[in-house]
Amino acid sequence: METLAIKSTLDISKIRKQFPILNQQVNGKPLIYLDNAATNQKPQRVIDALTAYYEQDNANIHRGIHTLAERATKAYEATRNSMQTFIGAKHVEEIIFTRGVTESVNLVASSYGRAFLKAGDEVIISGMEHHSNIVPWQMICEEKGAIVKVIPVSEVGELDLDSYQKLISNKTKIVAVNHASNSLGTINPIKEIIDIAHQQDAVVLIDGAQASAHLTINVQELDCDFYCISSHKMYGPTGTGILYGKKELLEKMPPYMGGGEMIKEVTFAKTTYNDLPYKFEAGTPNIADVIALNEAISFINELGKENIAAHEAELLAYTTEKLSNIPHVKLIGTAKNKVGVQSFIVDGIHHFDIGQMLDARGIAVRTGHHCTQPLMDQFGIEGTVRASYAIYNTKAEVDQLAEGLERIVKFLK
Ligand code: PMP
Repeated sequence: METLAIKSTLDISKIRKQFPILNQQVNGKPLIYLDNAATNQKPQRVIDALTAYYEQDNANIHRGIHTLAERATKAYEATRNSMQTFIGAKHVEEIIFTRGVTESVNLVASSYGRAFLKAGDEVIISGMEHHSNIVPWQMICEEKGAIVKVIPVSEVGELDLDSYQKLISNKTKIVAVNHASNSLGTINPIKEIIDIAHQQDAVVLIDGAQASAHLTINVQELDCDFYCISSHKMYGPTGTGILYGKKELLEKMPPYMGGGEMIKEVTFAKTTYNDLPYKFEAGTPNIADVIALNEAISFINELGKENIAAHEAELLAYTTEKLSNIPHVKLIGTAKNKVGVQSFIVDGIHHFDIGQMLDARGIAVRTGHHCTQPLMDQFGIEGTVRASYAIYNTKAEVDQLAEGLERIVKFLK
């Protein structure tokens, strides 16, 4: 992995102290949390921001002129500014707050898809998409008579770009792929995918759920049309996230939901819609969580994405080495370029049983299809066990995972 060249200079034990949840026993053993691709844990400063908001500033935003409303509005909009810098967006109004990646993809599929897709058009996704970047496209394509096409995935878990080149044509209107796969960890060559799509005038949506806490994102350099992020996968609270969209696209898209805040003027005869970004933010948003997300952004910025990536790459390399040497363990997803995610199966033992046996040792891993059933079908399996890393994980924890697995496989002949 490229990132291995950089050595992390972070003091992980100091970082761990910022995460109160890590300081507990589970089933009589110190918690080892390796389910970070599902959601990662929150540093104290994020928890404090949530509490402080409700203790001191709680008010509805934008509409009020009293002091609390002004404070809440300022803090909410401050997160939008931080997010703009975090992903390198040109305009702050290109940042739309949503509930997270799922809502962001649905917003684009419903609004852009409903307005611009027609019968016979094609939407290209990949074989390693999360259900939230599959089902919204199926729904809108069904409604419009458009067709979903799929970029195949190789045995090691990489996208087959030659096939992509063959799939794409002037019928392709939208390409939607993830920056990094939650099941396999693969980092996809999204710049290349975007450039190829643009040659056909297709717009590109990137699902950045597994990238925002690990990889540097610059939407202007990428030139993607839409980019989706979930706060809870980047040390922020659940229930919020963003949709980035290029201003000229967002401007021509119809609203996604109707209600308060997204309007300029309402009469029974005709309603006019608000400017960006508010046109897409109907109703009272998730104010507290958006405000606390700003602390998560600062947390990541202060650590530095390169340092985070280097630390997680070290953990991943160590995991690959350790797990490869355990009999009956088969790694799923061995692409060259990966974030800190390792899926595996154990011949002869169901992944749920492995998950339970590891839980008995205080080790939290995810088991199942990881919301990527078509990908599991391709590998001919029902699911995997998945260990996924965050900045607070350590090699000692990987040792514990490997030791647990060694004990489990001892029972196999
Ligand atoms: N895409 C990917 C790659 C994911 O990992 C996830 C969450 N597991 C999602 C989309 C959906 O994100 P959310 O549930 O936060 O909307």
